[in-house]
Amino acid sequence: MPLLQSRVRRLASRRVLSTFYSPLLVNVAFPLIKNARRQRTINQPVSLSGFSYWSGQDVTVEFHPAPENTGCTFVRVDLDSRTLIPAAVQNRIETPRRTTLAAEGCSVEMVEHALSALAGLQIDNCFIHVSGSEMPAWDGSCRDAVQALCEAGVTEQDSERETLVVDKVIRVGDEQSWIEARPPATRMSTIAYELNYGPGPIGHQSVEFAFNPERFREEIASARTFLLESEAEAMLRAGIGEKATYENLLVFAEDGPLGNSLRFPDECARHKILDIIGDLALTGFDVHADIVAYRSGHRHNTELARQLCEVYDTTCIQGQAV
Ligand SMILES: [Zn+2]
Repeated sequence: MPLLQSRVRRLASRRVLSTFYSPLLVNVAFPLIKNARRQRTINQPVSLSGFSYWSGQDVTVEFHPAPENTGCTFVRVDLDSRTLIPAAVQNRIETPRRTTLAAEGCSVEMVEHALSALAGLQIDNCFIHVSGSEMPAWDGSCRDAVQALCEAGVTEQDSERETLVVDKVIRVGDEQSWIEARPPATRMSTIAYELNYGPGPIGHQSVEFAFNPERFREEIASARTFLLESEAEAMLRAGIGEKATYENLLVFAEDGPLGNSLRFPDECARHKILDIIGDLALTGFDVHADIVAYRSGHRHNTELARQLCEVYDTTCIQGQAV
């Protein structure tokens, strides 16, 4: 049973997580299916440069093809050790307003936009060489990464991509902000995001996105991250983001974006969907679900990814027993 063997191999490399689900119930409630699609990687390496928002470093990123069942892995090429940092939720460490991964004492920050570009294009296996401790900001979206990856070309591999089909609600958060995975209503996974900044330039936005790579490119990939003017000023006072300008970071004043214009009227909510796609990529498998989120951020998104991995692992344990 090659599929089962591959699951067991994954289990061996994954930190064993405590489980609060009964494996038997989980196996019934959350079937793992072999999806129709095959794993994918890129045809050739492709390089992108830019500065990092938080550290101000100039950074070069190279996306490289990777063998099937490798997953996406960051490589700190600026370090002699060239430490590998797999894009897996157990490698996530807490940092404010961004997703950071760490392994063997090395870290790479703000990985979510590159991971969103890869997951949005259904590129499952990729080595991401980075010349610093933080991924570049680009224009605040993942448009440049998506364009580069498409120019590299995408190729199918022999192994099938595994999918977790959710058929029981998993919810993370509280009344103020939450995200949940619901059983999918259709064969297509969806993400719905509701953002509520109250009175002001961002206001109340909601977007629902039915996932496929073409729609991701058109509707999500170019949506940029954003800040309120007061938040941007506070960060500058703290010595953060000194290379950011109103042209490369969407900053909202009382009457709208400063020195910039919106790509979509609901660009902020669309960017939150971009973030969710990047954060849920830390599961390492496809999630067939309807994801619904209200004001959630990276902490809740990645906690949902962690809980989905628990379900995946306990399902595998049950599968192994069978
Ligand atoms: Zn973001």
